[in-house]
Order: sequence, then structure tokens, then C-alpha cells
Amino acid sequence: MDPLTQGLLGGLVGHLGFESKLGRKATWLGVAAGMAPDLDVVVGGVGRLLGDEFIGLHTHRQFSHSLAFAPVGALLIAAILRRGAPWGWAFACALAAWLTHGPLDCCTTYGTEILWPFDRGRVSWNNVSIIDPAYTLLLAVGLYAGHRRQARRVAVAGFVLSLAYLGWGAVRSDAAATAAIAQIQANGWGGPRRVMAAATPLNNVLWRVIAQLEDGRWTAGLARVVPLSEVQVRLSEPFDDHRPAEADGWIAGSRELAIFERFAQGWTRWKPGPQGVGWRVVDMRYAGGLTAGAADGDNLWGVDVRPQPPGPDKPSVEVSRYHTKVRPDLRRFGRALFGGL
Ligand SMILES: [Zn+2]
Repeated sequence: MDPLTQGLLGGLVGHLGFESKLGRKATWLGVAAGMAPDLDVVVGGVGRLLGDEFIGLHTHRQFSHSLAFAPVGALLIAAILRRGAPWGWAFACALAAWLTHGPLDCCTTYGTEILWPFDRGRVSWNNVSIIDPAYTLLLAVGLYAGHRRQARRVAVAGFVLSLAYLGWGAVRSDAAATAAIAQIQANGWGGPRRVMAAATPLNNVLWRVIAQLEDGRWTAGLARVVPLSEVQVRLSEPFDDHRPAEADGWIAGSRELAIFERFAQGWTRWKPGPQGVGWRVVDMRYAGGLTAGAADGDNLWGVDVRPQPPGPDKPSVEVSRYHTKVRPDLRRFGRALFGGL
């Protein structure tokens, strides 16, 4: 999630757990440890400077976000910021805050290697948007009120409500996915192979829904989940997947393609490449919604794959990243959010 929210959550956990031992320092240790795991983006930045577009997809939300690395990160934070505070309490405070970061990122769609290095799968629960002001506000109010008036009860309430908000998001995501499955079956498209519902930015009312059908085709769209009323779903007409028979071999033989496939958690759709050359592989986790390419799933980013003429020591495909210019239609967004689909 965004650094502000991560910092607030770490700060609130530091404040609630360790204020009695560390005073205000508990909040600052917590804020620092809550935000620090995202420093892994430096690896991707250096990689880009050196001409490697893919290392960042590999390392962001990887080791620094794992539970196993948390004690190492917490030790660094305590060493840099404890300033005379007892080692043990400073370390415990930083550890508690560091351990909030990975699980919170797991709540978003991007994927987090929370069990690195023991399990290299990316985990995403899709129960909150990467930026959600309501969630951030609960944490901010809890932290602010807890500090200003020493009103511990307000801080505890903010923390508990923030957890409840994430749980509520999981219930809504599930409701959106269930309604999408019912719609797919009602349309006579068969039972879907897989379905996901992910919150659109800034709210947890509108959900992007993405499904791959039994026959390999895809559909994507929106669901609107409002308490005490039926979930509304609007899905696109199914569109084809043009994955070629060689794809598995190319993924096995190309470092870049393998990194992208793992990053996208296998939610990839192959379509004809730009100007009819090669293929465009789309990260379908970001399909659906209201943006320009949402109708055929090409919503945010992916890779272009161009087969190369065979030759000794040459990879069989050239792979490059692309980004789609996302143009949110704010009017339609507002209408869908407050009026309906
Ligand atoms: Zn993160």
C-alpha cells in the first residue's frame, strides 16, 4: 500500500504496544519500520539505470516484505533510531511494526512474497485498494487522537476498526466474485476456470472483476457492492486468449518472461502484438474497471514478446515491458460509484 498508510499502521502499532516503555520514540520507530520494507524499490531503480527493466518486478515486495526478513530489518531500524532507548524494547517495537508491512501489502492485488525464501509464491488477498482513504483515515485518527489527548481508547478503536475494514473488504471481494460467477453461468458461458475481484482505487464499493472461462476466453468488468442490496455486475463480452503452443517453452527459456509470468501470478493473457508483430502479454490482474483498455483486459502493463530468428546462444524471444496510458473516466467512475452500473 502507499507509504503514508504503511507508516501510520507501523506508528499506531508502535504507539499501542510500546509507548509505556519507549514514550514517543515508540511511534517514530514504528513509522520508520512500517515504511522501510519499501526501500526494496532501490534495487529496481538501480537495475533500470543499468538497463535491466525486470529486476524490479523480481525484487519489489520480495525479501524485505517477508516474515523471515523482519528481524533483520527491525535490528537495522533499532540500531539507527533507538538513540539511548533500551535495545530490547526498541527492537521489539521495530519488529512489531515491520511485521505489519508485508501482511498489509498482501491485502492488495500486486502480490507479496510473504513466505520468502521458503515459499516463492506471491500472495494477494485483493481485499483493499492500493490507496484507500477510509482505511488510512482510521489509522490517522487513531494515531493522532492517541497522541494528542493520551486517549488510548481512541487509538485502540482506530486500530480495531482498521482491521475490521480489511475484513469487510474480504467479504465484499467475495460477494463481487460470487455475483460474477452467477452472471457468467446465467450468460451460458459455463463455469469459470478462475475469478478474482479487486477494489478499484479509493473505495471498496466498486470492484474490478476478471474471469477466465473454461474454454480459455476472458471476461472483465465491474461489480458494485452496497450493503443490503443485490450486487450489481457488468461484464464484457468474452474475448480470446491467443497464447501460442510455444509459450511454455519461451517462458522456461527466457529470464524476462519467467519473471513477468511469476510477477503476474499466472494471470496472463496473450494477444496479437503491436503492428501484428509477436505477442502482447497482458497482466490480467489489472483488467476490468473503467479505464481505456479495460474492455479487453489491457489495462495497465505487460510485456511484448517477439520471436527471434534461431541462432547459436541467442534467446528465442525478445521481451520488453510496456505500460498502457491509463485514462480514468472520472465522470463514469462517479456515476458508477454513487448511482449504479
Ligand atoms: Zn510494500
